[in-house]
Amino acid sequence: MDDLVVSTPVGLYCPAGGFHIDPWGPAERAIVTHVHADHARPGSAAYLCTEASAPFVRRRMGEGPVVQAAAYGEKTRLGDAVVSFHPAGHVLGSAQVRIEAAGRVWVISGDYKRAADPTCAPFEPVRADVFVTEATFALPIYRWPEPDVVAADVMAWWDRNRHAGVASLLFCYAMGKAQRLLAELGRLTDRPVLVHGAVAEMSDLYRQQGVSLLATTRVAEMPARRSYAGELVLAPLSAGGTPWVRRFGERETALASGWMRVRGTRRRKGYDRGFVLSDHADWPALVRTIEETGAERVLATHGYSEELARYLRESGRDAGVIATHFEGEADV
Ligand SMILES: [Zn+2]
Ligand SMILES: [Zn+2]
Repeated sequence: MDDLVVSTPVGLYCPAGGFHIDPWGPAERAIVTHVHADHARPGSAAYLCTEASAPFVRRRMGEGPVVQAAAYGEKTRLGDAVVSFHPAGHVLGSAQVRIEAAGRVWVISGDYKRAADPTCAPFEPVRADVFVTEATFALPIYRWPEPDVVAADVMAWWDRNRHAGVASLLFCYAMGKAQRLLAELGRLTDRPVLVHGAVAEMSDLYRQQGVSLLATTRVAEMPARRSYAGELVLAPLSAGGTPWVRRFGERETALASGWMRVRGTRRRKGYDRGFVLSDHADWPALVRTIEETGAERVLATHGYSEELARYLRESGRDAGVIATHFEGEADV
């Protein structure tokens, strides 16, 4: 039987439905799993995404392309295929794509996690004949601490810096991770947080969908020569090492990322602190999720895909790798 989804030069493609999934090149119709830049790229003529992703996709793609939104679980017929979105628990609006055609079901996971996240719908296991899974952190060393424990660690770090009179500069993804931090910290304090413009824009789109976040102020709106001693600042990784950070004066820096699980990465990158907080599944979550889909065949992509496929084959599964251009978490 032919595969329902194949790898092409512009991305994963479903011949029966005539659509691409998260294409990295221009496509006639793109299905978007979530709005991180490596998955939702401009250049396609039409996009289909979840309702919660739509405001982000429209903002990114501008006026040109058609953006169609579907609710989680809603079925859309495309060619000879029926497509539906199911929560992936990765960021607001993130989805797995379920494709049914010729009596077979393929599920493309997109990026996903199983850990609690107050800013998005939790991952929902979907039965599949073939499961295409991400493998960003598919090594047994990757096991995440509980997110509320990490949030308490961030809070303690901020408090310590406050008492020492220095700024706390926390780097993270502007979409997803920053809002997750703002929601988690909102359970521990009502002190406002300062944010880079990129974080502010994404946070506004979250709030417009009713996600409750700690109050934020844009750094750009602060008066000149103001002291930042004791403040917590959230900024995207791209702002690190630029003149933008000089205004904060004496400061400690930290990175919130799954990569912080590995000793040495933090030091090599020059951060004072690392917080292990990831929007991807850790090793136990990957293995459990694959189990829960009941898939007879698994295709891994992204990150440690070879390693995951090998592990699955050694455990008696039909498993392989499907090539994509997706990037891992916070390229450190
Ligand atoms: Zn992502
Ligand atoms: Zn990704």
